[in-house]
Amino acid sequence: MVCVGGGPAGLYFSILAKLSNPKHDVTVVERNPAGVTYGWGVVFWDDLLDDLFQNDPVSAQRIAQAAARWDTQEVHLRGRYATHIGGYGFALGRDRLLDILIRRAKGLGVDVRFEHDVTDLSAFMDADLVVACDGVNSRLRQRHAHHFQTHVEEGRNKYIWLGTNKVFDAFTFAFEETSAGWLWFHGYRFNSETSTCIVECQEATWKALGFDAMGPDETLRKLEGIFQGRLQGKSLFNQLKGMGRAPWLNFKRITNERWYHDNLALMGDAAHTTHFSIGSGTKLAMQDAIGLARQLRAQPDVPTALEAYDEERRASLLAIQLAARSSSEWFENVPSYVDQDATRFAYSLLNRRGSSVWSYLLLMASQQPSLQGMLRTLHHSKQWVREQRRGRGAVALSLPPPG
Ligand SMILES: Cc1cc2nc3c(=O)[nH]c(=O)nc-3n(C[C@H](O)[C@H](O)[C@H](O)COP(=O)(O)OP(=O)(O)OC[C@H]3O[C@@H](n4cnc5c(N)ncnc54)[C@H](O)[C@@H]3O)c2cc1C
Repeated sequence: MVCVGGGPAGLYFSILAKLSNPKHDVTVVERNPAGVTYGWGVVFWDDLLDDLFQNDPVSAQRIAQAAARWDTQEVHLRGRYATHIGGYGFALGRDRLLDILIRRAKGLGVDVRFEHDVTDLSAFMDADLVVACDGVNSRLRQRHAHHFQTHVEEGRNKYIWLGTNKVFDAFTFAFEETSAGWLWFHGYRFNSETSTCIVECQEATWKALGFDAMGPDETLRKLEGIFQGRLQGKSLFNQLKGMGRAPWLNFKRITNERWYHDNLALMGDAAHTTHFSIGSGTKLAMQDAIGLARQLRAQPDVPTALEAYDEERRASLLAIQLAARSSSEWFENVPSYVDQDATRFAYSLLNRRGSSVWSYLLLMASQQPSLQGMLRTLHHSKQWVREQRRGRGAVALSLPPPG
């Protein structure tokens, strides 16, 4: 089995394939050198940890130990704290996640090869299965785009994925108004020193502020100025280290009507993307890996397993893809929501995937500090119960019993 692309999808699939049968010959081919990746921390929730503990407790334990927990979500408007939203989740640096998966894969005997840019599959003619997990711009997918019936749609906003040494304890949404319109970021810490900071705005604002003509350093200094109220003198970083253009992008929404062709399977971002504002791409990539590994165990041969994988995973993605679309559309229309009362605005942000009266009442009530404490205790208890159910020992995320 060959996985083209050493991201979360390919590495996790290689681990599960080896765990299914140590005699499987599994190779992961990655174009980047070892230790080089793009992006900063990614968020996830207990549901992913549950899946990981069920499928490979060893890597799950390492991921849980390395992750940072963020407690509550907050909205900041024009540099000032506006609303408390609550909730909790986890975040982990992408580099750390990949390092854990690479070590685990190698430990199980997976052949992980770096600095191999795969341009065609001629070197893998003898493979029983090739997994195209080469990301959003998958070359392998593009070669058979007609068969897969790939649909690519570009988001209207501009975004840039940055890091910062401002450590946000809460998952932070900060909205700032400039003379050219609104800019906002989603920020959360993923270790004790660094947070992810994804800045987004409408294209007209981006152009009017001159970002289309700025280099990376100038871009960072300008954004630090705009968000000084929330960054409080801390710096923003990107990974290009002063070279080339600032990595602003438009989000690409990818869907495919078919997820396999002969013995080639699409997985992770190569198969589908969901807007980063719902923080699910990594989870879905790893769940694809779980799905394909399970079908390979359950079905009598590779073609039947691929058919079952295609059917099961495509169906299970429909709801989350809809939610992601609603969320990205909400962010494309921020200027039309942002001028309302702060709590109503936070409600609309919270319910960008679909609304509920209960969540509005809860949001109103949770502006009271006393209720915030109660909700924290409730989350704490929920997390503790899930940890006990997973049956793991003392790890960094583990909490003492509630009460
Ligand atoms: C701004 C932003 C924020 C995000 N935040 C979150 C978040 O908080 N939570 C979350 O769950 N998800 C998040 N995501 C989504 C997440 O990053 C992706 O969904 C996830 O990385 C997909 O994993 P993958 O393995 O399919 O692809 P990737 O992680 O993209 O890995 C693909 C790999 O294939 C390699 N490759 C590509 N072409 C070739 C080739 N020809 N030959 C060899 N190797 C090749 C690449 O170098 C790469 O290492 C975010 C995405 C963005 C853009």
